[in-house]
Amino acid sequence: MNRTERTEALWRRARRVTPGGVNSPVRAFGAVGGTPRFMASARGPYLVDVDGTEYVDLVCSWGAALLGHAPPAVVGAVRDAAERGTSYGAPTEGEVELAEEIARRAPVERVRLVTSGTEATMSAIRLARGFTGRGRIVKFAGCYHGHSDALLAAAGSGVATFGLPDSPGVTGAAASDTIVLPYNDADAVRAAFAEHGETVACAITEACPANMGVVPPRPGFNALLAELCHRHGALLVADEVLTGFRVTAAGWHGHEPIDADLVTFGKVMGGGLPAAAFGGRAGVMDLLAPAGPVYQAGTLAGNPLATAAGLAVLRAATPEVYAGLDRTSAALRAAVAEALDKEGVPYLIQTGGNLFSVFFGDHAGGVHDYAAARAQETARYAAFFHAALDRGVYLPPSAFESWFVSAAHDDAALERIVEVLPHAARAAAEAG
Ligand SMILES: *Cc1c(COP(=O)(O)O)cnc(C)c1O
Repeated sequence: MNRTERTEALWRRARRVTPGGVNSPVRAFGAVGGTPRFMASARGPYLVDVDGTEYVDLVCSWGAALLGHAPPAVVGAVRDAAERGTSYGAPTEGEVELAEEIARRAPVERVRLVTSGTEATMSAIRLARGFTGRGRIVKFAGCYHGHSDALLAAAGSGVATFGLPDSPGVTGAAASDTIVLPYNDADAVRAAFAEHGETVACAITEACPANMGVVPPRPGFNALLAELCHRHGALLVADEVLTGFRVTAAGWHGHEPIDADLVTFGKVMGGGLPAAAFGGRAGVMDLLAPAGPVYQAGTLAGNPLATAAGLAVLRAATPEVYAGLDRTSAALRAAVAEALDKEGVPYLIQTGGNLFSVFFGDHAGGVHDYAAARAQETARYAAFFHAALDRGVYLPPSAFESWFVSAAHDDAALERIVEVLPHAARAAAEAG
């Protein structure tokens, strides 16, 4: 068999039985072309596909694999939990412990566990609407909060626009309660609140956006959001599904305290199993059923395997782990910069803690919003991506994603990446 024979066969079968061949769109390689790899196993910083090809992984399950793949403590915790039963439909000690661990790290008093980040943000929005008795929400173009209807709204033309459906199947009514603003644009936010503030239930923002590439908040932007929300009687929802427990022990909040009323979590806190959460102060959270009237529920919420995995990861995620992630990320960024500089490729690397992404092209003023992110040279990224993939480095299959390192990315893994970077840089140069 050649290097991709099983992969090609699975790709054919997958497309027959699953729309587009995948269960989440970015996995299909649509943004970079080519055949997605089907993974068979993973350990530490490495993925192995069904043809036996090994890759250094720089996606890390979109950040969830904070400690790398299959860390013994997590595998052991999941195995032990599975032997005690996979789901009870009744409360467990693990749920209490995971909620306590989240509340210890992040600025929330009460925590509700759910199964996906989508559910966390969707439920936080419902709670904000229930709490305020208002309907409108403010979101930012380029910020991703999962795929619930109200949050699949796109910006129309103009600066402060009522949302348009971002997908068929989202009604105009669902999207039109969403005001979509350009990210990092203080004037647009001030204008939107001046005009509509009394009808806004909440603003939702990625604490540090990383779903349009990494586009950190300008100094004072998150603080301005909190101030405007609170002056107008609205809530601020900080979406830390991606950044939570990844960039510091407390998430982005550890870099820049955010006066948010509700915070959403996911990815890292599930330890690679389906778990997510939202939390906030008691006075808001206690409106949730059964304490209050805002309905929210889940058959598998607080699942014992997922809580065991999440707890094992969080308990192992010490300050030393975060310091190590920062060092690894810095070393990798320096190596990428050196390789691209040598080839004379124009690029900008932006960081948010240990998260970073590479924008190809000239971005002299920085990339501060989605319009600027979309101006990057994606053809260069596709060439860079495939040159790396061919040589055993698995990058995010889209230029609009963050790169992720894990605590398992040691010198040997970094060395393998560094050997590949000159080839990837040359491919990016030739794609110009
Ligand atoms: C991944 C992500 C979500 C959605 O989480 P899912 O578990 O994929 O539903 C929401 N918000 C942010 C910031 C994310 O990165």
